[in-house]
Amino acid sequence: GRHGPGVSNLLLVVAAASSGGLVAYADSGSDAAVEKPQLPQRKKVIVLGTGWGGTTFLRNLDTRLYDVQVISPRNYFAFTPLLPSVTSGTVEPRSIVEPIRRILEKKGGEIKFWEAECFKIDPQNKKIHCRSNLGTNLDGNGEFLVDYDYLVVAVGARTNTFNTPGVVENCHFLKEVEDAQKIRRSVMDCFERASLPFLDEEERKKNLHFVVVGGGPTGVEFAASLHDFVTEDLSKLYPSIQHLVKISLIEAADHILTMFDKRITNFAEDKFGRDGIDVKTGYKVVKVSKDAITMQNPATGDISVPYGMAVWSTGIGTRPFIVEFMKQIGQGNRRVLATDEWLRVRECDGVYAIGDCATINQRRVMEDISEIFRVADKDKSGTLTVKEIQDVLDDIYVRYPQVQLYLKSKQMNGVADLVRSAKGDAEKESVELNIEEFKKALSLVDSQVKFLPATAQVASQQGQYLARCFNKMKDAEEHPEGPIRIRGEGRHRFLPFRYRHLGQFAPLGGEQTAAQLPGDWISIGHSTQWLWYSVYATKQISWRTRMLVVSDWTRRFIFGRDSSCI
Ligand code: FAD
Repeated sequence: GRHGPGVSNLLLVVAAASSGGLVAYADSGSDAAVEKPQLPQRKKVIVLGTGWGGTTFLRNLDTRLYDVQVISPRNYFAFTPLLPSVTSGTVEPRSIVEPIRRILEKKGGEIKFWEAECFKIDPQNKKIHCRSNLGTNLDGNGEFLVDYDYLVVAVGARTNTFNTPGVVENCHFLKEVEDAQKIRRSVMDCFERASLPFLDEEERKKNLHFVVVGGGPTGVEFAASLHDFVTEDLSKLYPSIQHLVKISLIEAADHILTMFDKRITNFAEDKFGRDGIDVKTGYKVVKVSKDAITMQNPATGDISVPYGMAVWSTGIGTRPFIVEFMKQIGQGNRRVLATDEWLRVRECDGVYAIGDCATINQRRVMEDISEIFRVADKDKSGTLTVKEIQDVLDDIYVRYPQVQLYLKSKQMNGVADLVRSAKGDAEKESVELNIEEFKKALSLVDSQVKFLPATAQVASQQGQYLARCFNKMKDAEEHPEGPIRIRGEGRHRFLPFRYRHLGQFAPLGGEQTAAQLPGDWISIGHSTQWLWYSVYATKQISWRTRMLVVSDWTRRFIFGRDSSCI
């Protein structure tokens, strides 16, 4: 027989090498099929989402090592911390977005991007089902299947309405760039409507009542930026109605900004009080209709207030297809995707989850725990039996294994230990336990257990960490004795993910910002606002957006904000 491949076989080899495939080919002149080793096939990495987590992962990934495909319904990255600034026209929407294809192009090599959303994950067959709203396939429904070796789920979260009636129909959300644009238009519409000649005073007031539901960082920042917009720009343009403007901030807890240090909470509440922003704490919104918002407070009962525009910002919830995926993989009881310390989705080979779809903050945990208690207290007596409390605990442990781990580490094994620690005495477990006392015990635990906040900071650190692991995966497989690897059976090759908290800002309007920096170092005021400007200018994803954002800020300083309804 002949030796060496013929032209056609040579072509096969070249094709196989360029596609990275491992092919078995037969030399036409030889009797037996000869298997020749080729370049190993590059593993397929699918990234779902082009937000903080997905984009940071892609920017740090060595894309020569993998066959990378990116799937997201949004073909750009959005710098979410500046969304509240977009609602008032301080920053233009285009200044805070960067096309994902531009980011991918800078990486060199070939990365495929599909503008589509994933609607089902099939972990058994390692496939995902996607749907494009743009084009149609032969069936006309725009659906297609993609298979993966590794799947990075970075799809973020959706706004949580707690199923409050009327919220979806009547409130704005502030999650996406389009939301911020809609809010900006809606604010201007309210002012124009209130200026119309045939309205009476009450109707003008109604139109100029802006309600923000949720006293977390987003709600507070939005209320502050709206107040600045009104006092610095709109009051000059609408002098006859400016005295009718009212901004209300409604919060179910006893304070706003509960995730911040008490000093920041107090400063923010005082400042808002001085600015005339009506902060209503301890009120829970129970219904929103076209004209009025109904809220509840144990002291006042139900009250309804007319409003012109409402923004709903009460936290985040899990996307429906992720909920379905969690049910499939036995995580139906959880609120967010449970991952191990290496960000691998538990019990799910090759799937990783980063960002908001896999993180839950302290406040939501406590809301959840309260809900578990509420459901368990069927007769509304305020007490539960030991058995019932044990069931409640089991439920909490399933959702939040951190709580159980913490209790174990403190050698608190049962209900009695927990209640005893809250009461501070050695009282024996009684038949009936007071729910409030028990909750107090759990909140002590909760303040000790670290839940990662759902922030851009966490998502981007996770994206960066995961990319580093992926970059070293092959090397670590081939040289398992390297210095950063942990050796031994059943252990992972990489050091676990560790979050490094770099601090958090709370812009409060009037060129004042509060910052809680590492080591609980607090800084509040005008100088912190300048720190805010410099941090957010630095953190921009490209020089283009950095230039645009800085020039928007400068434009605002010189000419004020734009009030046109476009
Ligand atoms: P996201 O950034 O939300 O990205 C999710 C991506 O998944 C998007 O591209 C989306 O289009 C895509 N996607 C959605 N569904 C699908 C699907 N079915 N298939 C495929 N792709 C899908 N954090 C801070 O640290 N500091 C701040 O100052 C701050 N300010 C904020 C202000 C506002 C107004 C908001 C809304 C958030 C703010 N955050 C801030 C929080 C921060 O934006 C989030 O924690 C962060 O975006 C989470 O990153 P992520 O990658 O998990 O999700």
